[in-house]
Amino acid sequence: MFDWITAAVVLIIVHEAGHVLTAQSLGGRFVGFSRRGVAVGVRLELDHISPRSRRLTLWGGPLAEAAAVVGVLLAITTGSLLPEWGPPITLVAAADLAINLVPWWRHNDGARILATFRRAPVPELDASRPTL
Ligand SMILES: [Zn+2]
Repeated sequence: MFDWITAAVVLIIVHEAGHVLTAQSLGGRFVGFSRRGVAVGVRLELDHISPRSRRLTLWGGPLAEAAAVVGVLLAITTGSLLPEWGPPITLVAAADLAINLVPWWRHNDGARILATFRRAPVPELDASRPTL
């Protein structure tokens, strides 16, 4: 049986790990977790990395999540996972990606990514220890 809550929690972990691993690979440092209302994030120390690396760190979460979903869907098509998991996993991933990428709140990834395209100040990203 498909477990919706486990799928959502795993996707959140993958998303946040994507931010952390991207930051670490570019010279940043993981300093802890953060919670803002129901939103969970990671606190990163990005003092010594370039603005470009900070923006790549911003993309790390959504890209990790998208890669995980593609991997799961490939596993389903090759028979490694139950085929009936495809639709609910896709639905959970679409909902989670929409929450993260649709710029509905100034502190979510979508609003920050949009600000980078507009060359506008990116909320918190240029702080010493932003929460992503
Ligand atoms: Zn994120």
